[in-house]
Amino acid sequence: MNNATMEDLVSLCKRRGFIYQSNEIYGGLQGLYDYGPLGVELKNNLKKSWWKSMIYERDDIEGIDSSILTNPLVLKYSGHENTFTDPLVDCKSCGERFRADQVPDYCKKEDLTEPRQFNLMFKTNVGPIEDGNSFAYLRPETAQNIFTNFKNVLDSNPHPLPFGIAQMGKAFRNEITPRNFIFRVREFEQMELEFFVKPGEDEEWHKKWTDLRLQWWEDQGVSKDSLEIYHVPDDELAHYSKATVDIMYNFPHGLEELEGIANRTDFDLGSHTRGQKDLDIDATVAENTQSNAKLAIQDLENKQWVVPYVIEPSAGVDRGFLAILNEAYKVESLENNKERTVLSLKPHLAPIKIAVIPLKRNENSIVMTSVDLKNDLQRTIEGRVLLENTGNIGKNYRKHDEIGTPACITVDFQTLEDNSVTIRDRDTMDQTRLKIDEVRTFLAQNYQI
Ligand code: ATP
Repeated sequence: MNNATMEDLVSLCKRRGFIYQSNEIYGGLQGLYDYGPLGVELKNNLKKSWWKSMIYERDDIEGIDSSILTNPLVLKYSGHENTFTDPLVDCKSCGERFRADQVPDYCKKEDLTEPRQFNLMFKTNVGPIEDGNSFAYLRPETAQNIFTNFKNVLDSNPHPLPFGIAQMGKAFRNEITPRNFIFRVREFEQMELEFFVKPGEDEEWHKKWTDLRLQWWEDQGVSKDSLEIYHVPDDELAHYSKATVDIMYNFPHGLEELEGIANRTDFDLGSHTRGQKDLDIDATVAENTQSNAKLAIQDLENKQWVVPYVIEPSAGVDRGFLAILNEAYKVESLENNKERTVLSLKPHLAPIKIAVIPLKRNENSIVMTSVDLKNDLQRTIEGRVLLENTGNIGKNYRKHDEIGTPACITVDFQTLEDNSVTIRDRDTMDQTRLKIDEVRTFLAQNYQI
């Protein structure tokens, strides 16, 4: 727990190169952000950690990476064309538009128009003729092309139930009021798992996945105290959902959704399958005459075709990034009446794993030893090892505290005599002197890198 404000985080992100406003030199474009040199590392590390926990550490989940441009039929049968809307109101006094549940206090109720439904999907033209008929949607979630690939994946990589298909990547929503930095944006990334289970086992798996996902967030450094479970009331459920649990996080602007875990029943596969009549589909689905694939699995014992139920943990990469940054950000008072900002990131998420610092930047032999050490470490460390040959040592330590580098290694005159270096720990600021050939093991043992 900590008390960073959103301004603290925005300022750190800009100053140190985590996140910038997109298209900033032309005044920006609302709801879009760019990740800078440190941001892209942290973001990739977060995604890698999710992928590892979903695909590499389990044998019952396969990964895919599908196209962003989506055939309108997919989003017709998924229900998005009709229902992926937010209520929009205009304020006659200030002239602005808001999502009906997000009207600011300064607008009076009597100044608001009746809400009308606004579809959040972006459309784009496909091919050379722009006649309005050849368009595609930019996917509003990564989930749908998991469902449309259900048969492809199963035919090429057979699995019995339960099994999952996971995907991460960009999603686009024309949010009426993007705000709160990267919390609500128009272009973002999702990490989604569709876990297919036997009907009847769905509630048990829903609970299991909620527990697994909570544990995963904790493993990323998000403390239990900042997380809360919210059972979405029936009248607020999405059209496909039988039950949804939101993992809420205490963001600087308030308690809000970080990840949603939905029991989507057999709605999606049932909606996209051909031969709906011959399948025992529980959900209410629109008749589909256009799909050419049977999205069901045959029970090997009784030879019955089953349309699996789906449990979907769906997390936002950008919201995860913000939560992790907020958890890690601390301002500490030091003994000399000074302060330091420190980002206590878990080493596996840190944008820079290790900084190698030559104590004197004009001393050739110290610099060459540092370069050799950097290159040597970089060969086996996954993630960036940085040769930090700027500024003075104190400034370098402050910088690496602030960007979350778990440890700095300093090469000095003594190194030239006895091959020893100093390793300084970010969190404790303790310094350990050891031989260069002991460094790699020390890092593995103390930082798991
Ligand atoms: P909200 O109610 O906050 O609009 P949602 O319930 O529509 O979110 P889902 O459709 O469940 O969100 O999407 C799954 C996840 O994708 C969310 O938990 C969130 O982390 C992320 N996400 C959704 N919309 C956005 C957005 N506009 N910007 C950033 N992340 C988003």
